[in-house]
Amino acid sequence: MDVKKIYIDADALLDGHFKLSSGNHSQYYLQSAKVLEDPKTAKLLAEALAVKIKASGLEIDTVCAPALGGLIAGFALATALNVRSIFAERVNGEMDIRRGFEIAEGERVLICEDIITTGGSAMEAAKVIESLGGKIVGVAALANRGFCKHENSNIETKPNCKLPQDIPFFTLKDFTFEIFAPNACPLCKDGSEAIKPGSRGN
Ligand code: ZN
Repeated sequence: MDVKKIYIDADALLDGHFKLSSGNHSQYYLQSAKVLEDPKTAKLLAEALAVKIKASGLEIDTVCAPALGGLIAGFALATALNVRSIFAERVNGEMDIRRGFEIAEGERVLICEDIITTGGSAMEAAKVIESLGGKIVGVAALANRGFCKHENSNIETKPNCKLPQDIPFFTLKDFTFEIFAPNACPLCKDGSEAIKPGSRGN
């Protein structure tokens, strides 16, 4: 499966000059929601991710997605794995489990995101699950920005990766782009202006 082509065809891998939420600039930006706009594509990607997870032999009771980004990927993956689907959400900035979702003692939970950058939101959701008695058995994401090492990968985990090294991380594709501080950005030097992804016109 050519995951990169699927992202490009869905306009989910943008090529231009972008200002990231960190303040840094990049030529590329992953607009993950766009690849899930077509439910058939979402199903296809989630099923491919489920194949990798099943092949590892990992046993899972529940998929938990950090809202908002992980919602669709999490639901599609839970469908493909035929397990329960729940989500964590931010309340006043703090990740929480609401909506009447309950976690059984020792319940085996996989955290699912659309994309893992450093894994910060995933680990916030994991902490809440663990505080309720659940056990985090793995992390999954459709796309990986290349800071965290996934199963069967040769890339090195970068220091800013927040995922623990003792649980497996499954992904379909590493999207590793160079990022630049604004004062060292070659695209700025060429005279173009960085735009905020998601704003009108991209
Ligand atoms: Zn720039």
